[in-house]
Amino acid sequence: MAKLVVLSGPSGVGKDTLLQRLLQRVPGVVKCLTATTRPPREGEQHGVDYLFLSQEEFEQWIAEDRFLEYARYNQAYYGTPRHLVDEWLAQGVDVILKIEVQGGLQVRQRVPEAVLIFVQPPSMEALRQRLQQRGTDTPEQIAHRLRIAEQEMQAIPHYDYLVTNDDIEQAVDLLRAIILAERARVPKR
Ligand code: 5GP
Repeated sequence: MAKLVVLSGPSGVGKDTLLQRLLQRVPGVVKCLTATTRPPREGEQHGVDYLFLSQEEFEQWIAEDRFLEYARYNQAYYGTPRHLVDEWLAQGVDVILKIEVQGGLQVRQRVPEAVLIFVQPPSMEALRQRLQQRGTDTPEQIAHRLRIAEQEMQAIPHYDYLVTNDDIEQAVDLLRAIILAERARVPKR
């Protein structure tokens, strides 16, 4: 049975790089496209980075129960289209959802057999330094992201695995090991 895997973690922790390397190293895994109402950032494309929906479209999809989960984050909606996940799983491919924790917890409720992985920074200080080095945020925005990060880390007990992104290669090795071990699980009736 193909697995549904949730990958969450604070902004700036390095989830994108980890995921990119993981996808290169483990065959049979895809990242599911998700939908959002936030405006595209420079270089982002509809249907590649996100399905960029208007607020009205998103709310219509909610009304039609087309999301496996959805949440509001940073004044925008984000959600996982149910049909995309179902299509991949039906093809026998493991599906990774890179989503924030409110969505992760909804997946926990709706798909109890999903595998939830949380990526944490080595320390809050390390996270602050990474956000500073990224150079995209003002000091106020960084302080705000750090407060959100602390809230998000409260959800760790609901996750199955905790990966610390200190050394990136080690973190990718661990993610790969988790997925391979999950594939080797004896199916429970
Ligand atoms: P960004 O705006 O930086 O692309 O994403 C903001 C946050 O929303 C990130 O933590 C990202 O993982 C999360 N996110 C992206 N797509 C979804 C989704 O479909 N559902 C939920 N709950 N979170 C999402």
